[in-house]
Amino acid sequence: MKGYGITSLEHPSWLEKERPVCGPLDAIVKPVAVAPCSSDTHVMHGGSGEKVNLILGHEAVGEAVEVGALVKRVKPGDFVVVPCTTPDWLAPGIQGSLYTAHDDGMISGYKFVNSKDGVFAEYFHVNQADANLAFLPEGVSPEAALMIVDMMSTGFHAVELAEIGFGDTVAVIGIGPVGLMAIAGAALRGAGRIIAVGTRPASIEVAKSYGASEIVSYRGGDLAARIKEMTGGGVQKTIIAGGDGETFRQAVEMTKAMGTIANVNFFDMKDALNMPAFVWGLGMSNKDIRCGFCPGGRVRVEKLMELVRCGRIDPTRLITHKFRGFDKIEDAFLLMDKKPQDLIKPIVYC
Ligand code: NDP
Ligand code: ZN
Repeated sequence: MKGYGITSLEHPSWLEKERPVCGPLDAIVKPVAVAPCSSDTHVMHGGSGEKVNLILGHEAVGEAVEVGALVKRVKPGDFVVVPCTTPDWLAPGIQGSLYTAHDDGMISGYKFVNSKDGVFAEYFHVNQADANLAFLPEGVSPEAALMIVDMMSTGFHAVELAEIGFGDTVAVIGIGPVGLMAIAGAALRGAGRIIAVGTRPASIEVAKSYGASEIVSYRGGDLAARIKEMTGGGVQKTIIAGGDGETFRQAVEMTKAMGTIANVNFFDMKDALNMPAFVWGLGMSNKDIRCGFCPGGRVRVEKLMELVRCGRIDPTRLITHKFRGFDKIEDAFLLMDKKPQDLIKPIVYC
């Protein structure tokens, strides 16, 4: 079968591979729509280390074409929503803890592109289909579900990590699709002032529509100093959804004592996180630094779809580009890598 990925770092290409084999608890899914993620582009550039001959992609909705002998809920022909994190629910690390991303080791709950081929393929494998695949409820579009499986789950996870409360002043650094979902999540959680950091015009418009009070550019002077000045000393909660190692220093610095810094950004292997001790109160500021990976599994995605079904959020505002045809995965991926000013998120109808 055909898939799109990398032959080696910096070499995106179409690949020819064997169709994956379905285990007794698993499913083989044919994608109906997929979306490239910034993390796919990081992987191509070596952000997570050496990778060869790997099919990319981890955001998909599709049709189950084959299920294992022990699968009870999912049937061939079902339309399924595929969480980007598909934990092994039998792994000792997950039992009793619900750390879906780290089922049996750091980020091991994330299988696509990490420990096996991704979803940019004619067919892809999903482990433990009954526990990991969700059905689309009436009132939720396939496009909305596609924005939920990673973007909304990750952006909302940042809000969970930050424990945003009523009236909190929040900074969201990065207004790509992940940061935009964090803004929407922060607003739903009752944040007061939300300061969004980014420059792309398409994102700025959507950030405002999701509840950003102000937009600040990360260019043009020290971001932490400017946010501290705007807020009279800093924000209570800071979410990092973009930037590099230096952004981390700024995030810690712009957060008040007793505040929380929540990171969901993918720092590059080559990044070093920069945090002079004074921005962390010489280790005594009671600033809480947290980080997390996109939670997955069927119930997580079902709960997020419930928010969409009930009209609390519309994640399809992220979609700026639509491609038609499996072969267009290449165009969508290369566009995601280039990140033009009018881009937030491309999707491909396969
Ligand atoms: P985008 O690249 O679309 O957005 C990044 C944002 O960060 C943009 O708004 C960009 O600004 C801004 N930015 C860039 N440089 C800086 C800087 N120096 N300081 C402050 N802001 C900056 O990314 P996505 O929204 O798609 O993804 C965000 C991150 O989350 C990525 O690293 C991605 O890999 C990661 N990710 C993590 C997941 C997890 O499970 N933890 C899951 C999915 C994604 P501008 O507006 O100018 O472009
Ligand atoms: Zn992703």
